[in-house]
Amino acid sequence: ETIAVQELANRMAERGADVIKCLMRNGIMATINQVIDADTAELVVSEFGHTPKRVADSDVEIGLSGVSDADSNLIQRPPVVTVMGHVDHGKTSLLDALRATDVVSGEAGGITQHIGAYQVAVHGGQRITFIDTPGHEAFTAMRARGANMTDIVVLVVAADDGIMPQTVEAIRHAKAAKVPIIVAINKIDKPDANVERVRQELLQHELVTEELGGDVLAVEVSAKKRINLDKLEEAILLQAEILDLKANPDRAAQGVVIEAKIERGRGSVATVLVQKGTLHVGDVFVAGAEWGRVRALIDDRGNKVEQAGPSAPVEVLGLAGTPSAGDDFVTVETEVRAREVAGYRQRKERDAKAAAGARGTLEEMFSKIAAGEAKELPVVIKGDVQGSVEAIVSTLERMGTDEVKVRVLHSAVGGINESDITLAKASNALIIGFNVRANPQARDMARRDTVDIRYYSIIYDVADDLRQALTGMLAPTL
Ligand code: GDP
Repeated sequence: ETIAVQELANRMAERGADVIKCLMRNGIMATINQVIDADTAELVVSEFGHTPKRVADSDVEIGLSGVSDADSNLIQRPPVVTVMGHVDHGKTSLLDALRATDVVSGEAGGITQHIGAYQVAVHGGQRITFIDTPGHEAFTAMRARGANMTDIVVLVVAADDGIMPQTVEAIRHAKAAKVPIIVAINKIDKPDANVERVRQELLQHELVTEELGGDVLAVEVSAKKRINLDKLEEAILLQAEILDLKANPDRAAQGVVIEAKIERGRGSVATVLVQKGTLHVGDVFVAGAEWGRVRALIDDRGNKVEQAGPSAPVEVLGLAGTPSAGDDFVTVETEVRAREVAGYRQRKERDAKAAAGARGTLEEMFSKIAAGEAKELPVVIKGDVQGSVEAIVSTLERMGTDEVKVRVLHSAVGGINESDITLAKASNALIIGFNVRANPQARDMARRDTVDIRYYSIIYDVADDLRQALTGMLAPTL
């Protein structure tokens, strides 16, 4: 547990300089942006005559159900899948077709509710959870809020069209998140379908399918004619087995908000993906900076249920406010605790908003590196010609030490666009523009999301700046 001197000062409503003086009296030399440990912070707080009370995110987890996540408590959980791909390649059709493969649908009228995610049961009793918002925008927006809920990405590529710009974007978003990709080569019913061409094109993006000697699973499907959907599900389950996905169902529930809205007559409704533990009606919880008590749980078939376990998507009624998609969801013991944590987070959000824009991401990254919290400096590189982009990539990749390295998330020829900003935001990356500029939309987004874009026209300058950032010597650019 740590806190920056500035934040500690803010929370006590004291001047930063006074906090630094107090630290000095106690033999600690610290700057305003330096991070100090909780014990030191407590000492300072007492010296100012306040009563120290630690309320941190991780406290939420302490003393919950009392059950640990030790191996013996872990059971297999269904994989959580997000479908991505180029527009019109069949993402929505595939999600609809997969929805209809559910083997228990007959009894309960099928998966009719659109709550943001659904779970299908396949033959043999295994289950797969699909996130119902296709595309990488939602995926990346979630990741930007710290939620990594996808275990597997299904990349849809139309066999008559091949790899297109958004296919490439999807690949790089999945790779940046280190999520394995299964390729669904769709529309094989079409006369001009060319599966071989798709496999060859995938090679250029380092996705080597099994047929070509690699380990990427690729399944030829038709969403429209419902061909090979069972094979696709088998591939997903096989990949899930390799990933060895497990969770402890016997603990307080923890998960992610997939979507949230206000509905007439129902109040705030959130769809939550449970990741650990089991959520019950009556549980008290915190979702982002909101809290509540579960009044009712409704599954993807519109049924009221009493509980929801790992990897289950469920609608939660009983929120006091509306959280955001990507917010975390945790159950806590008491309403008092829920209020306390939600209040703390609301204050933190306000502080963060106030601080946004004040400092660039590179400096933030630099202080994290200096504090030993970051091990790599992620970058996105855009340039005017292939030659200079390649030169920058190879220069940067050779830089760094055993402790810290530059990680090139994406490099390409062209101006800086919105997709670059979302990627950078989600990975806390720095964007380097070499003889190119950001388009106006990207510029606005970067400003709003405080993504740091740096422009260069000399390769040496790029290398120099990053080397300084890595060694913690970068001068502030305010
Ligand atoms: P999305 O934009 O990726 O969500 O794509 P859609 O699911 O909306 O599909 C785009 C178009 O392709 C629609 O007209 C679908 O009917 C069609 N389509 C989707 N899958 C198939 C398929 O397997 N075969 C054929 N022939 N058409 C398909």
